[in-house]
Amino acid sequence: MSITVLRLNHRVGRDKRVTTHLFLAARALGASNGVLSGDSDKALLQSVNKTAVEWGGAFRVSYEKDWRSFVKSFKGKVVHLTMYGLPVQKCVDKLRVEDLLIIVGGAKVPSEVFELADFNVSVTNQPHSEISALSVFLDKIFQGSELSLKFSHGRKQIVPQKKGKKLLQP
Ligand code: SAM
Repeated sequence: MSITVLRLNHRVGRDKRVTTHLFLAARALGASNGVLSGDSDKALLQSVNKTAVEWGGAFRVSYEKDWRSFVKSFKGKVVHLTMYGLPVQKCVDKLRVEDLLIIVGGAKVPSEVFELADFNVSVTNQPHSEISALSVFLDKIFQGSELSLKFSHGRKQIVPQKKGKKLLQP
């Protein structure tokens, strides 16, 4: 099962940090690729993709100007993360059957996203952030197995230590 994360309505400058962290969290927690929509942001794509190459694995981010067409043509189930949706713990078991497109909103989420989605899913019905919502969602989908993922062909790798830092790199 592959998982694509679509970030809606990115704003250059204002959202740089949150959007970057959203894609880094997506990669670290097992998503297959990321898609940026809203403002085009070459520097952000380069930065995330550089990190992904250095640390390994196949995750990459690309840009899609027309998010509607992208969502409509997606082959698999479309999940929109929103605090108005059905609780993740009640519907996650139905979602592990096909490739998933996970839509996370930005400043404003167009109402049609709620209709385009096959599932509107909440991570609690309280407002919080796209990064926390995505992270909990991925953990529920992968049932914790994402914590043991191996990232192949990276130049950098950490050797976990009780104290101190050990980084392997050429
Ligand atoms: N004001 C925006 C709106 O019009 O809905 C929401 C902004 S929120 C900071 C950004 C994104 O975080 C949302 O679009 C949603 O994807 C995610 N999010 C925030 N709280 C959530 C929750 N409780 N459950 C699921 N996703 C959530």
